[in-house]
Amino acid sequence: MQVVLHYAELGLKGKNRPYFEIRLSENVKRLLSPLGAVRLHRQPGRILVELPETVRWEDVRSRLSCACGLSYFARVHVLPADMDRLEALLAAELPALSFRSFACRCRRMNKEYPLTSEQMNRRLGAFVQQRFPGTTVDLDAPDLEIFVELVNKVFYAYFRKEPGPGGLPAGTAGRVVTLLSGGIDSPIAAWRMIRRGCRTSFVHFHSMPFTSQASLDKVRELAQKLEPWQGPARLHLVPFGPLQQEIVTGAPQEYRVILYRRFMTRIAEAVARREDAHALVTGDSLGQVASQTLTNLETVNSVATLPVLRPLIGMDKQEIIDAARRIGTFDTSALPHDDCCSFLMPRSPATASSPEKAAEAEKGLDVARLVKEALARATEERIGGGA
Ligand code: ATP
Ligand code: MG
Repeated sequence: MQVVLHYAELGLKGKNRPYFEIRLSENVKRLLSPLGAVRLHRQPGRILVELPETVRWEDVRSRLSCACGLSYFARVHVLPADMDRLEALLAAELPALSFRSFACRCRRMNKEYPLTSEQMNRRLGAFVQQRFPGTTVDLDAPDLEIFVELVNKVFYAYFRKEPGPGGLPAGTAGRVVTLLSGGIDSPIAAWRMIRRGCRTSFVHFHSMPFTSQASLDKVRELAQKLEPWQGPARLHLVPFGPLQQEIVTGAPQEYRVILYRRFMTRIAEAVARREDAHALVTGDSLGQVASQTLTNLETVNSVATLPVLRPLIGMDKQEIIDAARRIGTFDTSALPHDDCCSFLMPRSPATASSPEKAAEAEKGLDVARLVKEALARATEERIGGGA
C-alpha cells in the first residue's frame, strides 16, 4: 500500500525544512511500524510511504490522524507518468465510485512534462465523460475528485484526501512540562502544545493516601492517550499531602488554593529545569473556576520564571469538551477522581488576590525546603515506548 503525506506550514520553513521533514518522517515511522514494515521516501514537497499490502487502510488512517504536521494524506496509486496508463487506471477504478459530477485536479512538480496541468485536466475530463456517459465536470462541488500529482517521473493518483491534524511535527518546537490533573482541561492543553511541535513531560500532584489509587491510574491513562501524538513521555508523580498540611497550618485558609498552585508551579518549574524544558503548560481557562480569575493567575504566575503557557485561556468549557471528545481523552477525564485540591479545600477560596498578599500569606512557610522535600518524594514513570 502506498500513501502520500502532505504538510502545510512546515513546507515554509526554509532551510529548516529538512529537519522538519526528518522529524515528521520519524514520527510517522513510529506510528506505522506496529502495522508492518514501513518505508518512507522523501519527495519534493511530500513524503511517500510504502506499507505491506496486507495492512488495513482503516488502521493506517487512524494512526496517521495523530501525525502532527500533516495537512492531509491519501492512499495513492503510483504509476509511470504516462497518460494512457492513467486513463487505464481510471477505467478500472472509477466504476466502484458512484458519481455523477467530477473534477480533475492535476498538479505537476516536474515542469518538464510535455503537458501542463491544465492540459492534463482537460484530457482526463474528456476521457472520463466519454467513458462514463452522463457524467459532468463540476469544479466547485463535484461528487468525485480525481487527484493526480506528477512527482519526478511518476503519477500519484487518488480520489480522497484525509485531513491530517495540522500543526508541526512533535519534537520540532522543544520541550515543555505540563501540569496534568485528572480533569478535562490539562490533557487538552498538553495536546495543543504537542500539536505545535512540543514534546511534553507531565507532572501530577496527588494527596495519596487521602486521594485514591484510581485517581493516579486515571492520570496515567490520560498521559497514555497522548502518547500516539508525541511518543513516549515521562510522568512525575509528586506527593503533595505533606506540603498541603503545612500550608493548612501555616497560612490563612482563603489563600490555600492559591498557595497550592504557587507550590505546584515552583515544583513543576524545578522539574522543567532538570529536563531542559523551556515552559510550563496548564489547562487554565479564564474565569472557569475561582483559582482562574485574572488576579489569581497573576498571583500564581508571579512565582514562575519560565513562561507559563495556557493554551486554553480563551476557550469556553464546551469547546474544550468537544476537543477532548475528538482527541479521545474525554471518557477518561470524565471518570470520577479526587482532586488533591479538594482535599483540605477551604470553605471560601479567595477570588481576588495579589502577589504581595500571597507572599505575605506564605511568610510562615519555608518555601525552599518545602519545594526540595516535595521533589525528593516525587517518583518518575515512563509512559509508552513499550517500557
Ligand atoms: P483540569 O480539568 O485540567 O483539572 P480544572 O478546570 O479542574 O482543570 P483547576 O483544578 O483550577 O482547573 O486547575 C487548573 C490547572 O492547574 C489544571 O489545568 C492543571 O494544569 C493544573 N493542576 C491542577 N491540579 C493539578 C494537579 N493535581 N496536578 C497537576 N496539575 C494540576
Ligand atoms: Mg482540576
